[in-house]
Amino acid sequence: MASAEERLMEWLRDAHAMEQQAETMLSTMAGRIELYPELRERIELHLEQTRTQASMIESCIQRRGGDTSSLKDLAGKLMATGQGFGGIFMSDEIIKSAMASYTFEQMEMASYRVLIATSDHVGDAETSAICARILREEEEMAAWIWEYLPKVTRQYLAREEAPGLDAQT
Ligand code: MG
Ligand code: FE
Repeated sequence: MASAEERLMEWLRDAHAMEQQAETMLSTMAGRIELYPELRERIELHLEQTRTQASMIESCIQRRGGDTSSLKDLAGKLMATGQGFGGIFMSDEIIKSAMASYTFEQMEMASYRVLIATSDHVGDAETSAICARILREEEEMAAWIWEYLPKVTRQYLAREEAPGLDAQT
């Protein structure tokens, strides 16, 4: 059985891998979107937030005495979670990507909620505060996508119905 401190370290590493995965997905999406600038801009903003989140988590791991030299190797760990993003070039890619982004933010929210409870359990107020700050950014991103989903759907359908217009990404 692992101690709560060991679990915290393990879950911080998982969170770091998750943020690296997020960075890859978000930068791929931002690079592909041309027709939906509103979404691209929000993704670019969250990409910057995501990079900062990864380094904040890294600082938590270091402060708790963890080794960060192997952090980059863990990036592939959550690959399966991001299946909705990579290598799928469907005509409705923009809709699938928006849906997958929303799902990913939900997973991040759940991860940070667990991390806050674990940090509180072991009495690490700084890690708890950092995770709470990150959680707010994930909630804001999730809420933004949630509001945006009907809009992008209408835009997509209208483009698809218009002769000669490209709807794709
Ligand atoms: Mg994140
Ligand atoms: Fe996020």
